[in-house]
Order: sequence, then C-alpha cells, then structure tokens
Amino acid sequence: MIIVAIDGPAASGKGTLAKRLANELNLIHLDTGKLYRYIAWHLQQHQHDDIVANAFEQYVQNAIDDMDLSALGDEALLREEVGKFASKVSAVPFVRQQLVPLQRNLAKNIPADKDGLVLDGRDIGTVIFPDADYKFFLTADPDIRAQRRHQELQAKGDAVTLQEVSDALQLRDDNDSKRALAPLKPANDAIHLDSTDLSIDEMVKQAKNCVKH
Ligand code: C5P
Repeated sequence: MIIVAIDGPAASGKGTLAKRLANELNLIHLDTGKLYRYIAWHLQQHQHDDIVANAFEQYVQNAIDDMDLSALGDEALLREEVGKFASKVSAVPFVRQQLVPLQRNLAKNIPADKDGLVLDGRDIGTVIFPDADYKFFLTADPDIRAQRRHQELQAKGDAVTLQEVSDALQLRDDNDSKRALAPLKPANDAIHLDSTDLSIDEMVKQAKNCVKH
C-alpha cells in the first residue's frame, strides 16, 4: 500500500495529477480542498459566514456530520466565492483539527482491491501524512494558473473575469501560505514539479517516474 501526498497552490494542477495517478496506480483519491469547501458552503447555506460567531463550532460539526462523498461532488462547491470562504474557514484551528482524523482514517480503510491512497491539498505532506511514501509539491506560474482556473470557471458558466480570478487566486495563496496553522508550504522531502510548461501527460509522466510501483 502506498500513500501519495500532493500539495500546492490553487490551480497548480494538483487535482488533475492526483486523479491521473489514482487511475493509473489504482489508488483511492481525495481532493481535500472539497472538505474545506463543503464546510464553507454549508456555513454559507445557513447564513453563518462569521467565523467568530457564537455556535460557529457547532455549525462546523454539523457540516462534518452531514458530509458524505456524494455531497463533495456537488458543482456548487467549485464556485470561486466558495473557495474564497473555504480559505478563511480553513485557517480556524477547530476546523483543521476536526478534519485531521477524517483524512488519516482513509489510510486505515483502503479497500482490498486498491493499492493505496492519493490526497491533494495544502498540508498533506507536512501535517496529514508526514510519512507519506511520495510527496509532490506542484507549482505553476500565477498567470498560467489564473488562465487555467478562468477557463474552468467559464466552462461551468461562471461569468467571472480573468482579472477577478487572478486577484482571487493571489489572495487565497497569500491567506493559505501565511496562516499560522498548517500553512501551504512544501515538506522538506517533497519532490518539486513546475507544471507551467508541461502538458498534463508530461506532468503525470514525471510524477510516475518518481513512484516505484
Ligand atoms: O484546493 P481548493 O482550492 O479546492 O481548496 C480550497 C481552500 O481550502 C484552499 O484555499 C485552502 O484554504 C483550503 N485547504 C486547506 N488544506 C487543504 C486543502 C484545502 O487549507 N489540505
């Protein structure tokens, strides 16, 4: 059984890489950003978008109790405003603490027909699975990341401009890398991949070359 950790900033290609590795190496995949997005979305649905409000923790707990795999697939979670609030929510220690066991438990429950687990996020190689067998830290030029995310959002009918996407990504990168708890940063032993000039196939090939499977 192998555990693969993929971290990196928003729209660096980590989700695409994780999905491809999951398919090609027969691994379970979890996009951990969806956990934070789901909690943020749940709070927004209940007009509970003040992270210091009374009963915030209870609402977070309710969201986690409600969460299942089908809920994580909801298209609404992909909206940029949900990502932005997720970034705020994810800096709250209670939220992160609640999600640690949930993510680690996945490794204890790998189905017999699977060969392991790949998680992508911000703190997988540093906090969630510091002993992961393989750790990747994916980066890409900020303009390229903004273009990629803009195209994705446009394809989903979101009428956001490239400048808005670019500003939102920069703000999110800043929040995610400067927060006190589990900031976005490469693990000391992470393999760095820059996807700026790589096709998806080339990125997958480089990552797979590092995985002795
Ligand atoms: O990757 P994605 O854009 O879906 O993540 C949404 C937000 O969730 C990030 O901006 C980040 O604040 C938070 N997140 C996190 N730790 C993770 C994954 C996501 O803090 N492992």
